[in-house]
Amino acid sequence: MKCDISKRCGSCQYINMDYHQQLVKKQEECQKLFPHLNVHSVEGMDHPYEYRNKVIVAFNQKYEYGLYEESSHKIVPTQKCLLHDEETHKILSKIQSLFRKYRMSIYDEKKNRGFMKHVLIRRAVSTNQTLVVLVATDGMFKGSKNFCQELVKACPTVKSIVLNVNKRQTSVVLSDNEKVLYGKGFIVDELCGLTFKISARSFYQINHEQCVKLYAKVKELLNSQKDEIILDTYCGIGTIGMSVADKCQEVIGVELNKDAYKDALNNAKMNHIDNVRFINDDATEFMIQMANKHQSVDSIIMDPPRAGSTKEFIHSVKVLQPKKVVYVSCDPTTQARDLKWFKEIGYQASDVYLYDMFPHTGHVECVVLLTKVHNG
Ligand code: SAH
Repeated sequence: MKCDISKRCGSCQYINMDYHQQLVKKQEECQKLFPHLNVHSVEGMDHPYEYRNKVIVAFNQKYEYGLYEESSHKIVPTQKCLLHDEETHKILSKIQSLFRKYRMSIYDEKKNRGFMKHVLIRRAVSTNQTLVVLVATDGMFKGSKNFCQELVKACPTVKSIVLNVNKRQTSVVLSDNEKVLYGKGFIVDELCGLTFKISARSFYQINHEQCVKLYAKVKELLNSQKDEIILDTYCGIGTIGMSVADKCQEVIGVELNKDAYKDALNNAKMNHIDNVRFINDDATEFMIQMANKHQSVDSIIMDPPRAGSTKEFIHSVKVLQPKKVVYVSCDPTTQARDLKWFKEIGYQASDVYLYDMFPHTGHVECVVLLTKVHNG
Protein backbone atom coordinates (compact mmCIF):
# COMPACT_ATOMS: atom_id res chain seq x y z
CA MET A 1 0.00 0.00 0.00
CA LYS A 2 1.23 3.47 -0.78
CA CYS A 3 0.62 6.60 1.20
CA ASP A 4 0.33 9.86 -0.65
CA ILE A 5 0.44 12.08 2.42
CA SER A 6 3.31 10.62 4.39
CA LYS A 7 5.96 12.82 2.87
CA ARG A 8 4.40 15.89 4.29
CA CYS A 9 3.04 14.58 7.58
CA GLY A 10 6.27 12.78 8.43
CA SER A 11 4.80 10.37 10.98
CA CYS A 12 5.70 7.28 8.96
CA GLN A 13 9.29 7.62 7.87
CA TYR A 14 9.33 4.13 6.32
CA ILE A 15 5.87 3.95 4.72
CA ASN A 16 7.13 3.69 1.16
CA MET A 17 9.75 1.07 2.03
CA ASP A 18 9.07 -2.65 1.59
CA TYR A 19 7.79 -4.01 4.92
CA HIS A 20 10.31 -6.82 5.17
CA GLN A 21 13.09 -4.32 4.53
CA GLN A 22 11.77 -2.13 7.35
CA LEU A 23 12.08 -5.06 9.75
CA VAL A 24 15.62 -5.80 8.61
CA LYS A 25 16.59 -2.15 9.01
CA LYS A 26 15.19 -2.01 12.55
CA GLN A 27 17.05 -5.16 13.53
CA GLU A 28 20.32 -3.81 12.10
CA GLU A 29 19.95 -0.51 13.90
CA CYS A 30 19.33 -2.26 17.20
CA GLN A 31 22.30 -4.55 16.64
CA LYS A 32 24.46 -1.41 16.37
CA LEU A 33 23.07 -0.15 19.67
CA PHE A 34 23.62 -3.51 21.39
CA PRO A 35 26.85 -4.72 19.73
CA HIS A 36 27.57 -7.42 22.34
CA LEU A 37 24.07 -8.89 22.51
CA ASN A 38 22.18 -11.35 20.37
CA VAL A 39 19.59 -9.14 18.69
CA HIS A 40 16.81 -11.33 17.29
CA SER A 41 14.94 -10.52 14.09
CA VAL A 42 11.92 -8.29 14.52
CA GLU A 43 8.55 -9.93 15.10
CA GLY A 44 6.44 -8.20 12.45
CA MET A 45 2.74 -8.09 11.54
CA ASP A 46 0.94 -10.03 8.81
CA HIS A 47 -1.14 -6.99 7.95
CA PRO A 48 0.92 -4.00 9.11
CA TYR A 49 -1.83 -1.41 8.53
CA GLU A 50 -4.76 0.02 10.49
CA TYR A 51 -3.02 -0.95 13.71
CA ARG A 52 -3.08 2.31 15.67
CA ASN A 53 -5.88 2.32 18.21
CA LYS A 54 -5.34 5.98 19.07
CA VAL A 55 -5.17 9.11 16.98
CA ILE A 56 -5.04 12.81 17.79
CA VAL A 57 -5.94 15.24 15.02
CA ALA A 58 -6.27 19.00 14.80
CA PHE A 59 -8.68 20.92 12.58
CA ASN A 60 -7.99 24.04 10.54
CA GLN A 61 -10.38 26.91 9.83
CA LYS A 62 -11.60 25.11 6.68
CA TYR A 63 -12.58 22.15 8.88
CA GLU A 64 -9.93 19.96 7.34
CA TYR A 65 -8.35 17.65 9.85
CA GLY A 66 -5.06 15.88 10.09
CA LEU A 67 -1.76 15.46 11.85
CA TYR A 68 0.79 18.21 12.13
CA GLU A 69 3.53 18.43 9.55
CA GLU A 70 6.84 17.18 10.90
CA SER A 71 8.53 19.76 13.18
CA SER A 72 5.83 22.36 12.61
CA HIS A 73 2.29 23.13 13.61
CA LYS A 74 0.88 23.14 10.09
CA ILE A 75 -1.96 20.66 9.66
CA VAL A 76 -1.58 18.15 6.83
CA PRO A 77 -5.14 17.25 5.78
CA THR A 78 -5.48 13.50 6.24
CA GLN A 79 -8.63 11.94 4.88
CA LYS A 80 -7.23 8.44 4.86
CA CYS A 81 -4.28 7.46 7.00
CA LEU A 82 -3.15 3.88 6.44
CA LEU A 83 -2.47 3.33 10.14
CA HIS A 84 -6.04 3.91 11.37
CA ASP A 85 -8.97 1.58 10.99
CA GLU A 86 -12.12 2.25 8.95
CA GLU A 87 -14.15 3.04 12.05
CA THR A 88 -11.72 5.78 13.10
CA HIS A 89 -12.06 7.35 9.66
CA LYS A 90 -15.81 7.11 9.77
CA ILE A 91 -15.98 8.79 13.18
CA LEU A 92 -13.54 11.53 12.23
CA SER A 93 -15.44 12.38 9.08
CA LYS A 94 -18.72 12.46 11.00
CA ILE A 95 -17.16 14.82 13.53
CA GLN A 96 -15.93 16.94 10.62
CA SER A 97 -19.43 17.19 9.16
CA LEU A 98 -20.89 18.05 12.58
CA PHE A 99 -18.26 20.75 13.12
CA ARG A 100 -19.24 22.19 9.73
CA LYS A 101 -22.94 21.95 10.48
CA TYR A 102 -22.65 23.64 13.87
CA ARG A 103 -20.01 26.10 12.65
CA MET A 104 -17.73 24.99 15.41
CA SER A 105 -15.22 27.63 16.45
CA ILE A 106 -11.79 26.15 15.71
CA TYR A 107 -8.84 27.23 17.82
CA ASP A 108 -6.31 29.43 16.03
CA GLU A 109 -2.90 28.87 17.53
CA LYS A 110 -1.32 32.07 16.24
CA LYS A 111 -4.08 34.31 17.55
CA ASN A 112 -4.67 32.11 20.61
CA ARG A 113 -8.40 32.37 19.87
CA GLY A 114 -11.19 29.89 19.26
CA PHE A 115 -12.65 26.85 20.98
CA MET A 116 -11.89 23.38 19.58
CA LYS A 117 -8.22 22.40 19.69
CA HIS A 118 -7.95 18.66 19.05
CA VAL A 119 -9.94 15.49 18.68
CA LEU A 120 -8.62 12.26 20.16
CA ILE A 121 -10.09 8.91 19.15
CA ARG A 122 -9.27 5.77 21.06
CA ARG A 123 -10.53 2.38 19.91
CA ALA A 124 -10.84 -0.79 21.94
CA VAL A 125 -10.39 -3.23 19.11
CA SER A 126 -11.53 -6.42 20.87
CA THR A 127 -14.81 -4.97 22.06
CA ASN A 128 -15.31 -2.48 19.21
CA GLN A 129 -15.85 0.42 21.60
CA THR A 130 -14.70 3.98 20.92
CA LEU A 131 -13.83 6.87 23.21
CA VAL A 132 -13.92 10.37 21.71
CA VAL A 133 -12.09 13.17 23.50
CA LEU A 134 -12.73 16.73 22.39
CA VAL A 135 -9.99 19.07 23.55
CA ALA A 136 -11.20 22.65 23.86
CA THR A 137 -10.16 25.94 25.43
CA ASP A 138 -13.31 26.25 27.50
CA GLY A 139 -15.62 24.04 29.58
CA MET A 140 -18.74 25.59 28.04
CA PHE A 141 -19.62 23.60 24.93
CA LYS A 142 -22.93 25.01 23.74
CA GLY A 143 -25.00 22.46 21.88
CA SER A 144 -22.94 19.55 23.18
CA LYS A 145 -26.04 17.45 23.79
CA ASN A 146 -27.15 17.56 20.16
CA PHE A 147 -23.59 17.08 18.99
CA CYS A 148 -23.18 13.94 21.10
CA GLN A 149 -26.58 12.54 20.15
CA GLU A 150 -25.89 12.93 16.46
CA LEU A 151 -22.40 11.49 16.71
CA VAL A 152 -23.50 8.43 18.67
CA LYS A 153 -26.47 7.83 16.37
CA ALA A 154 -24.26 7.88 13.29
CA CYS A 155 -21.42 5.95 14.96
CA PRO A 156 -22.80 3.53 17.57
CA THR A 157 -19.34 2.23 18.54
CA VAL A 158 -18.83 5.58 20.32
CA LYS A 159 -19.49 4.62 23.95
CA SER A 160 -18.22 7.76 25.61
CA ILE A 161 -17.43 11.40 24.74
CA VAL A 162 -15.23 13.50 26.99
CA LEU A 163 -14.50 17.22 26.92
CA ASN A 164 -10.94 17.95 27.98
CA VAL A 165 -10.45 21.63 28.82
CA ASN A 166 -6.97 22.82 27.99
CA LYS A 167 -6.63 26.58 28.15
CA ARG A 168 -2.87 26.56 27.97
CA GLN A 169 -0.80 27.32 24.87
CA THR A 170 1.30 24.21 25.03
CA SER A 171 2.20 21.21 22.89
CA VAL A 172 0.81 18.92 25.62
CA VAL A 173 -2.58 17.99 24.21
CA LEU A 174 -4.53 16.89 27.29
CA SER A 175 -4.95 18.79 30.55
CA ASP A 176 -6.22 17.18 33.74
CA ASN A 177 -9.49 19.10 33.56
CA GLU A 178 -12.10 16.76 32.16
CA LYS A 179 -15.86 16.66 31.79
CA VAL A 180 -17.80 13.62 30.63
CA LEU A 181 -20.34 14.64 27.98
CA TYR A 182 -21.66 11.19 27.16
CA GLY A 183 -21.24 7.67 28.60
CA LYS A 184 -18.97 6.77 31.47
CA GLY A 185 -15.74 8.53 30.52
CA PHE A 186 -13.95 5.32 29.65
CA ILE A 187 -14.09 2.30 27.35
CA VAL A 188 -13.37 -1.34 28.05
CA ASP A 189 -11.07 -3.57 26.05
CA GLU A 190 -10.02 -7.21 26.25
CA LEU A 191 -6.36 -8.09 26.22
CA CYS A 192 -4.64 -11.38 27.07
CA GLY A 193 -7.92 -12.83 28.35
CA LEU A 194 -8.47 -9.93 30.78
CA THR A 195 -10.74 -6.90 30.70
CA PHE A 196 -9.32 -3.40 30.95
CA LYS A 197 -10.96 -0.08 31.57
CA ILE A 198 -9.19 2.71 29.66
CA SER A 199 -9.85 6.37 30.35
CA ALA A 200 -8.82 9.36 28.27
CA ARG A 201 -5.47 10.14 29.84
CA SER A 202 -4.24 6.65 30.67
CA PHE A 203 -1.52 5.03 28.62
CA TYR A 204 -2.60 2.01 26.60
CA GLN A 205 -0.44 0.16 24.08
CA ILE A 206 -1.45 1.41 20.63
CA ASN A 207 -1.00 -1.87 18.74
CA HIS A 208 -3.24 -4.56 20.22
CA GLU A 209 -2.05 -7.51 18.12
CA GLN A 210 1.64 -6.87 18.77
CA CYS A 211 1.02 -6.07 22.43
CA VAL A 212 -0.32 -9.60 22.98
CA LYS A 213 2.93 -11.05 21.57
CA LEU A 214 5.04 -8.65 23.63
CA TYR A 215 3.32 -9.49 26.92
CA ALA A 216 3.60 -13.22 26.18
CA LYS A 217 7.36 -12.73 25.83
CA VAL A 218 7.54 -10.84 29.13
CA LYS A 219 5.71 -13.70 30.84
CA GLU A 220 7.97 -16.29 29.25
CA LEU A 221 11.15 -14.44 30.28
CA LEU A 222 9.89 -13.90 33.82
CA ASN A 223 9.09 -17.60 34.13
CA SER A 224 8.02 -16.91 37.70
CA GLN A 225 7.34 -19.40 40.48
CA LYS A 226 4.16 -19.44 42.56
CA ASP A 227 5.89 -17.97 45.64
CA GLU A 228 7.48 -14.95 43.92
CA ILE A 229 6.95 -11.24 44.44
CA ILE A 230 7.07 -9.21 41.24
CA LEU A 231 7.28 -5.45 40.78
CA ASP A 232 5.61 -3.99 37.69
CA THR A 233 7.18 -0.54 37.42
CA TYR A 234 5.80 2.11 35.02
CA CYS A 235 2.74 -0.15 34.97
CA GLY A 236 0.16 2.09 33.24
CA ILE A 237 -3.31 0.65 33.79
CA GLY A 238 -1.79 -2.56 35.16
CA THR A 239 -1.86 -4.66 32.00
CA ILE A 240 1.50 -6.46 32.23
CA GLY A 241 1.34 -7.06 35.98
CA MET A 242 -2.16 -8.44 35.80
CA SER A 243 -1.29 -10.73 32.91
CA VAL A 244 1.47 -12.38 35.01
CA ALA A 245 -0.41 -12.39 38.35
CA ASP A 246 -1.65 -15.99 37.93
CA LYS A 247 1.93 -17.23 38.03
CA CYS A 248 3.24 -15.61 41.22
CA GLN A 249 2.41 -14.78 44.81
CA GLU A 250 2.04 -11.02 44.49
CA VAL A 251 2.42 -8.20 41.97
CA ILE A 252 3.07 -4.61 43.07
CA GLY A 253 2.48 -2.09 40.28
CA VAL A 254 3.75 1.49 40.38
CA GLU A 255 2.53 4.28 38.12
CA LEU A 256 2.90 8.06 38.20
CA ASN A 257 -0.20 9.06 36.25
CA LYS A 258 -3.15 9.28 38.63
CA ASP A 259 -5.80 8.32 36.07
CA ALA A 260 -3.86 5.28 34.90
CA TYR A 261 -3.35 4.30 38.56
CA LYS A 262 -7.10 4.58 39.23
CA ASP A 263 -7.83 2.52 36.11
CA ALA A 264 -5.35 -0.09 37.37
CA LEU A 265 -7.19 -0.36 40.71
CA ASN A 266 -10.50 -0.81 38.91
CA ASN A 267 -9.03 -3.29 36.49
CA ALA A 268 -7.80 -5.53 39.27
CA LYS A 269 -11.28 -5.49 40.83
CA MET A 270 -13.04 -6.02 37.54
CA ASN A 271 -10.94 -9.11 36.83
CA HIS A 272 -11.16 -10.43 40.41
CA ILE A 273 -7.38 -10.45 40.76
CA ASP A 274 -6.60 -10.09 44.44
CA ASN A 275 -2.84 -10.65 44.49
CA VAL A 276 -2.00 -7.38 42.78
CA ARG A 277 -1.78 -3.93 44.34
CA PHE A 278 -0.90 -0.57 42.89
CA ILE A 279 1.02 2.45 44.13
CA ASN A 280 0.62 5.94 42.67
CA ASP A 281 4.20 7.21 42.74
CA ASP A 282 7.27 8.04 40.72
CA ALA A 283 8.96 4.72 39.92
CA THR A 284 12.39 5.91 41.09
CA GLU A 285 11.04 7.26 44.40
CA PHE A 286 9.20 4.00 44.96
CA MET A 287 12.33 1.95 44.23
CA ILE A 288 14.43 4.04 46.60
CA GLN A 289 11.88 3.42 49.36
CA MET A 290 11.79 -0.30 48.62
CA ALA A 291 15.59 -0.36 48.80
CA ASN A 292 15.66 1.60 52.07
CA LYS A 293 13.31 -0.94 53.59
CA HIS A 294 15.28 -3.85 52.08
CA GLN A 295 12.04 -5.36 50.79
CA SER A 296 12.18 -8.80 49.34
CA VAL A 297 11.58 -8.80 45.57
CA ASP A 298 12.08 -11.71 43.18
CA SER A 299 11.64 -10.06 39.79
CA ILE A 300 11.18 -6.57 38.41
CA ILE A 301 9.37 -5.63 35.23
CA MET A 302 10.17 -2.16 33.94
CA ASP A 303 8.52 -0.41 30.99
CA PRO A 304 9.55 3.25 31.17
CA PRO A 305 8.59 5.98 28.68
CA ARG A 306 11.02 6.98 25.91
CA ALA A 307 13.31 8.82 28.29
CA GLY A 308 14.20 5.50 29.88
CA SER A 309 14.76 4.92 33.58
CA THR A 310 17.16 6.58 36.04
CA LYS A 311 20.49 5.80 37.64
CA GLU A 312 18.82 5.96 41.06
CA PHE A 313 16.23 3.38 39.99
CA ILE A 314 19.01 1.04 38.88
CA HIS A 315 21.01 1.63 42.06
CA SER A 316 17.98 0.56 44.05
CA VAL A 317 17.92 -2.66 42.01
CA LYS A 318 21.46 -3.26 43.26
CA VAL A 319 20.20 -3.12 46.84
CA LEU A 320 17.09 -5.24 46.20
CA GLN A 321 19.01 -7.94 44.29
CA PRO A 322 16.09 -9.47 42.35
CA LYS A 323 16.81 -12.65 40.41
CA LYS A 324 15.54 -11.10 37.19
CA VAL A 325 14.73 -7.78 35.60
CA VAL A 326 12.62 -7.78 32.43
CA TYR A 327 13.11 -4.46 30.71
CA VAL A 328 10.56 -3.44 28.03
CA SER A 329 11.44 -0.32 26.07
CA CYS A 330 9.98 1.77 23.27
CA ASP A 331 13.32 3.51 22.73
CA PRO A 332 16.38 1.29 22.35
CA THR A 333 18.74 4.28 22.62
CA THR A 334 17.82 5.01 26.21
CA GLN A 335 17.55 1.31 26.94
CA ALA A 336 21.14 0.81 25.73
CA ARG A 337 22.26 3.59 28.12
CA ASP A 338 20.38 1.97 30.99
CA LEU A 339 21.86 -1.45 30.22
CA LYS A 340 25.33 0.05 30.75
CA TRP A 341 24.27 1.17 34.22
CA PHE A 342 22.85 -2.30 34.85
CA LYS A 343 26.18 -3.80 33.86
CA GLU A 344 27.92 -1.63 36.47
CA ILE A 345 25.70 -3.13 39.18
CA GLY A 346 26.28 -6.71 37.99
CA TYR A 347 23.19 -7.38 35.86
CA GLN A 348 23.59 -8.42 32.27
CA ALA A 349 21.47 -9.31 29.24
CA SER A 350 22.29 -11.71 26.46
CA ASP A 351 19.36 -11.45 24.05
CA VAL A 352 17.28 -8.60 22.69
CA TYR A 353 13.79 -9.44 21.40
CA LEU A 354 12.17 -6.96 19.03
CA TYR A 355 8.49 -6.36 18.33
CA ASP A 356 7.24 -4.15 15.55
CA MET A 357 4.67 -2.18 17.50
CA PHE A 358 4.89 0.75 15.11
CA PRO A 359 5.11 -0.49 11.48
CA HIS A 360 6.17 2.14 8.91
CA THR A 361 7.78 4.34 11.53
CA GLY A 362 11.39 4.19 12.68
CA HIS A 363 10.35 2.93 16.12
CA VAL A 364 10.58 -0.55 17.59
CA GLU A 365 9.79 -2.15 20.94
CA CYS A 366 12.62 -4.05 22.68
CA VAL A 367 12.54 -6.60 25.49
CA VAL A 368 15.56 -7.86 27.39
CA LEU A 369 16.01 -10.15 30.35
CA LEU A 370 18.70 -9.05 32.82
CA THR A 371 20.12 -11.51 35.30
CA LYS A 372 22.79 -11.36 37.95
CA VAL A 373 26.27 -12.09 36.71
CA HIS A 374 28.02 -14.66 38.88
CA ASN A 375 31.60 -13.85 39.64
CA GLY A 376 33.52 -17.10 39.61
N1 SAH B 1 3.49 -1.03 31.15
C1 SAH B 1 2.39 -0.26 30.67
C2 SAH B 1 2.71 1.21 30.45
C3 SAH B 1 3.98 1.54 29.70
S1 SAH B 1 4.13 3.20 29.16
C4 SAH B 1 1.79 -0.89 29.43
O1 SAH B 1 2.35 -1.82 28.86
O2 SAH B 1 0.71 -0.45 29.03
C5 SAH B 1 4.99 3.97 30.44
C6 SAH B 1 4.15 4.31 31.65
O3 SAH B 1 5.03 4.93 32.59
C7 SAH B 1 3.03 5.31 31.40
O4 SAH B 1 1.84 4.80 31.94
C8 SAH B 1 3.47 6.58 32.16
O5 SAH B 1 2.37 7.29 32.72
C9 SAH B 1 4.35 5.98 33.25
N2 SAH B 1 5.37 6.86 33.80
C10 SAH B 1 6.07 7.85 33.19
N3 SAH B 1 6.99 8.36 34.01
C11 SAH B 1 6.90 7.68 35.19
C12 SAH B 1 7.60 7.73 36.42
N4 SAH B 1 8.59 8.60 36.60
N5 SAH B 1 7.25 6.88 37.40
C13 SAH B 1 6.24 5.98 37.21
N6 SAH B 1 5.55 5.88 36.06
C14 SAH B 1 5.86 6.72 35.05
